[in-house]
Amino acid sequence: MAKYDYLIVGSGLYGSICAYELHKRGYKVLVIDKRNHVGGNVYTKEVEGINVHVYGAHIFHTSNKEVWDYINQFAEFNNFINSPLARYKNEIYNLPFNMNTFCELWKDVKTPEEARNKIEQEKKSYHIEEPHNLEEQAINLVGPTIYEKLIKGYTAKQWGKDCKDLPAFIIKRLPVRFTFDNNYFNDIYQGIPIGGYTNIINKMLEGIEVRLNTDFLKSKEEYSQIAHNIIYTGTIDSYFDYKFGNLEYRTVRLETEVLDTPNYQGVAVVNYTEQEIPYTRIIEHKHFEFNLATPKTVISKEYPASWKLGDEPYYPVNDQRNTELLQKYLLEAKKYPNLYFGGRLGLYKYLDMDKVILEALNFIGGLHE
Ligand code: FAD
Ligand code: UDP
Repeated sequence: MAKYDYLIVGSGLYGSICAYELHKRGYKVLVIDKRNHVGGNVYTKEVEGINVHVYGAHIFHTSNKEVWDYINQFAEFNNFINSPLARYKNEIYNLPFNMNTFCELWKDVKTPEEARNKIEQEKKSYHIEEPHNLEEQAINLVGPTIYEKLIKGYTAKQWGKDCKDLPAFIIKRLPVRFTFDNNYFNDIYQGIPIGGYTNIINKMLEGIEVRLNTDFLKSKEEYSQIAHNIIYTGTIDSYFDYKFGNLEYRTVRLETEVLDTPNYQGVAVVNYTEQEIPYTRIIEHKHFEFNLATPKTVISKEYPASWKLGDEPYYPVNDQRNTELLQKYLLEAKKYPNLYFGGRLGLYKYLDMDKVILEALNFIGGLHE
């Protein structure tokens, strides 16, 4: 018979918030995760005195005060501002595209007006009325020089496709500014939790039973009976045994190494924008916490890769095929009143951490209306 009120499959941010909120309300909760650690993709691990972002760089940013206050209950945040650099061959540029980038690129540009004029002049020979793909959108936005040096190669590596074959909207989220401002994000609040993300998750899960190395799908019979309700934060197609087909993802392979130097690249993120270098960026983890005191450093090279079953599903591919397939699974899910799908994989949505917090809080709020 059911021993728990809620079984939560997945101890990522979504599952852990649900667990915390339900436990607080007096429910009996069990959390299981197939990995050997909690935290899902926000998991950080200490190596050489540095908190390493094991599943890729995680920078917290939001404009939602409620979300910011919520996460600050569990950790103090430092004042890290993401200011990545782009490296193209032997040239270094500031990102996102801003007055610093324009002045580095064009020695005759010193003011916003000169930068705008330069871009307009460069665009003239292209005559793109309405951009139909990412290449046209990028040229329209910043002109052909920036496109060639900072966008074309990076994007092709990231998505495994030529910019002409990608939708324009991908590039729209990248800010273009005519101010000297290297902050990659436009949000009001930003930072990295002091002590790492894993501490946040551990605090959320305090007093709650957690079973690691436990794959729901391998013991589906047993775990389907163990609780009155199930919150499933794994991939929705896996829950239903891929019966309508596989949803697709992009994945990233991270190569992490310890280097015998205190400071490798002087900044947390460097994007390698030329096509010939196979990785898209190098993360140097210590710069997330301004930790130059340790004698060694840890870096991760990110290699984007196409995904096959068994790989880590990182980014959903929201094209028509996958959107239609998702609808079928969502419809199927409705047949089970005590089964809830949530989080990035359960909802098949690219959700930043702040959106995951909102989704989880709204879900819990909805349960008790
Ligand atoms: P997950 O973290 O994926 O957790 C799901 C958990 O479920 C996992 O632990 C998994 O092991 C477990 N699970 C799955 N299936 C099963 C099963 N069958 N049985 C048992 N357990 C199972 N967001 C930002 O705000 N800022 C960033 O800078 C940022 N950078 C990112 C970089 C990368 C490379 C990626 C991939 C994401 C990034 N994100 C970022 C997004 C962020 O990772 C997500 O918002 C957040 O981790 C989602 O939490 P989640 O709980 O939904 O999913
Ligand atoms: N982009 C680029 N060059 C860069 C950084 C980003 O061309 O140096 C483009 C690329 O197409 C990328 C998009 O902008 O997919 C969005 O970038 P963002 O950093 O938001 O996303 P991510 O790189 O994490 O997918």
